[in-house]
Amino acid sequence: MPDPAVLRYNFAAGPGVMPAEVLAQAQREFLDWDGNGFSMLETPFTGDTFKNVLRMAREDLRGLLNIPDNYRILFMHGGASAQFSLVPLNLLGNKRQADHIETGYWSTKNMREAGRYCRVNIAASSTETSFDRMPMDWHLNPESAYCHFTSNETANGTQFHQLPDTGDLPLVADMTSDFLSRPFDITRYGLIYAGAQKNVGPAGVTVVIVREDLLGRAHPATPTVFNYAAQAEADSMLQTPVTYSVYLAGLVFRWIRDQGGVAAMEQNSRRRSSSLYDAIDNSDGFYQCPVQPDHRSLMNICFSPVNDTLTPFFLTEATAEGLLHLKGHPMTGGMRASLYNAMPDAGVTALVDFMQYFSEAHRHHV
Ligand code: PMP
Repeated sequence: MPDPAVLRYNFAAGPGVMPAEVLAQAQREFLDWDGNGFSMLETPFTGDTFKNVLRMAREDLRGLLNIPDNYRILFMHGGASAQFSLVPLNLLGNKRQADHIETGYWSTKNMREAGRYCRVNIAASSTETSFDRMPMDWHLNPESAYCHFTSNETANGTQFHQLPDTGDLPLVADMTSDFLSRPFDITRYGLIYAGAQKNVGPAGVTVVIVREDLLGRAHPATPTVFNYAAQAEADSMLQTPVTYSVYLAGLVFRWIRDQGGVAAMEQNSRRRSSSLYDAIDNSDGFYQCPVQPDHRSLMNICFSPVNDTLTPFFLTEATAEGLLHLKGHPMTGGMRASLYNAMPDAGVTALVDFMQYFSEAHRHHV
């Protein structure tokens, strides 16, 4: 039985920490949503009640990111992984090739899946430096239908902080792990997508934002429910939407707005991540971060003791202190602290204090 006196902070990479206010509101509304006498879980998607929830979520998201009218916002099933197939199925049109930027675990998985549908042209890669940075020298191919990249590599702890010029080639981004953590100019993109379970909230819904002129070129074998044009036409209600996840995502959009919007989210994540990176860099060689300073993620901070045999002890002691889910991705090992929007400053302070204590207690092992 966990000790209720110990504060707990959830550093999981996903599903990750949700805003406490949103969870409390969902709890209050769970049995009786908006005075209807029944739960959102029991609400049919065809009625006005749910349609309004969906419409408000879409409009709030449009406001948060300044999304112009020629972009459609879809709430889809299948997680971000389904998009690895749905992007080529929907966007290749009569082309047979897509450019991909190879930056780590998730972009590699994506390329493997895309390769089932088209030729994958690796336009840039950071394999040679073990994915310790984001490549900036992109060699795009005009024969490609689009260029796909992963804005934040959740497992490797790298993030694009700027992008090279990509000309007219539609840019497609997997923003699963940094969506809504900072403002971005959607008009630079043909399409972006994000699984919700990081900064948006509950697993189950995937947000797709697509420029209208890219609709209508899906491969004829694309399942209708996975056809962007068909879902856009049906306002994401071609089949039963993941209603509860859409409702919760809507609450998170409102929460972000009330906190000052995505610009405030960025300020928070800069402050939080830099205090953690400072703790690593100023540890007199006790901790290390495998990522080049200019390419470090503000969302997923990867680190480990230089003496990696201490990692299991760090994890056990941290868990006992209420610092949860710090184990790194199985592919990369070490530790990973995910600082999504809902992570309070106090969580980062508690982690930094613990790191200081642990390094003092174990320095003789270095
Ligand atoms: N892309 C990125 C960048 C991710 O971090 C993840 C999940 N961690 C995925 C894709 C896959 O998401 P899902 O599990 O929703 O398919």
